[in-house]
Amino acid sequence: MSEQAPGRGIDFVAAAFGRCPACGKGKLFKSYLKVADACGVCGTNFKTADTGDGPVVFVLLIAGFIACTGLLVSVLAWNWPVWKLLSVWPGVAVVLSLILMPMLKGVMVASQLKHRVRD
Ligand SMILES: [Zn+2]
Repeated sequence: MSEQAPGRGIDFVAAAFGRCPACGKGKLFKSYLKVADACGVCGTNFKTADTGDGPVVFVLLIAGFIACTGLLVSVLAWNWPVWKLLSVWPGVAVVLSLILMPMLKGVMVASQLKHRVRD
């Protein structure tokens, strides 16, 4: 990643991993899902980005698809008993959701910064 002035280039991968989408160095979040007011390194203002419930939809679709596909394969191909299904796949869905949530929120914040969404 090279030095970029705010607004010139947006790095979606950096945002997915919790870094500033403008410079790739500062922190995007001040807590698990709370977006910082601005980048501590380049000063990019994150206050204009408000993702609302947008990332939740994608998290539900992705984690739900993976967990439901795994559950179906477990039943139809491997013939797992119910206790094993219930002990594995709900946990997989929860862990996947917790991992994907900040990543997709970061990507949506980056998308809003790229397209200069304002109130
Ligand atoms: Zn920055």
